[in-house]
Amino acid sequence: MTQTKVAEKIILPTPFAVGDVNVFLIEGEKLTMIDAGIKTKEAENALESQLNERGYTISDIDQVILTHHHSDHCGLVDLFEGKDLLGHEDNQRYLVRDDEFLDWQREYFTGISKKMGVPKEYMKYANNVESMYTYSGSKPLTGFLKEGDKIPGLEGWIALETFGHSQGHLSFYHEATGSLIGGDLLLGRISPNPILEPPKKKGEARFKPQLQLNESLKKIEKNKLDIVYPGHGSNITDAYSLIEKRLRKQHERAMHVKGLIGEGENTILELAVQLFPKAIRRDPALALFETLGQLDYLESIQKVEKQDKEGVLYYRVTTHE
Ligand SMILES: [Zn+2]
Repeated sequence: MTQTKVAEKIILPTPFAVGDVNVFLIEGEKLTMIDAGIKTKEAENALESQLNERGYTISDIDQVILTHHHSDHCGLVDLFEGKDLLGHEDNQRYLVRDDEFLDWQREYFTGISKKMGVPKEYMKYANNVESMYTYSGSKPLTGFLKEGDKIPGLEGWIALETFGHSQGHLSFYHEATGSLIGGDLLLGRISPNPILEPPKKKGEARFKPQLQLNESLKKIEKNKLDIVYPGHGSNITDAYSLIEKRLRKQHERAMHVKGLIGEGENTILELAVQLFPKAIRRDPALALFETLGQLDYLESIQKVEKQDKEGVLYYRVTTHE
């Protein structure tokens, strides 16, 4: 039996506000890299040199496994021509990006913009969908992983579905050492954005990413977690207290939103402007999704209700205790 070593961290730069992104090298039966940084020359060079320091080159990697499809995690997959690329099936549409999917994103986010009370121009997901993929790779997955699947070539590692920050987001768990490679599910310094994605098929119900994120945190919490290797920042050795903090802060943020609504009624845009006066200019979509996430949560605990008025959603408080 091969002894699987716990993950080695490789830190790659990104041009994003989040800063560096981590990818992880696991020396199992197959030399495996978890995630693939972002598609820039700087990241590629940093990956090459950090692999070299460990006695490897890019061509030594046998397989790449993705936590999720965001460009800072899948950017360099095209370097791994002819190698296995595994991830949840839901990532595939973001890697392949055919015209049908791009059109579906435009259509879906145009509709969502209207519901949120937002002019479409402010929603890059609706009007400039291509710009979201500038730094993404486009090698399709060669195989799919789902809840509980063993990772081929990595003894003792399994995939856990931890959706919310993205659909198809996976974490990878090694029970023997209590190690979790958590992607962007649990980060030390920030709470991950609950990013809204279009349903897989037209007509299906809207995702509620904040509720999914909370469920995913509660799910990983049931495991022995000695160390969490996050997609950004330092390794986490106090996962349980951090998870509790994230859930508590999210509840408090939602209650703050409830307070903002007060006795009146508000659109999602009106609340997002108050909650994120700066971020709403810099990245309106993220600010709106975060606000929507709090409203979904408040709705789930019956604190607010919404009404559709000529296609725009208005939220009001249901109870005032
Ligand atoms: Zn992400």
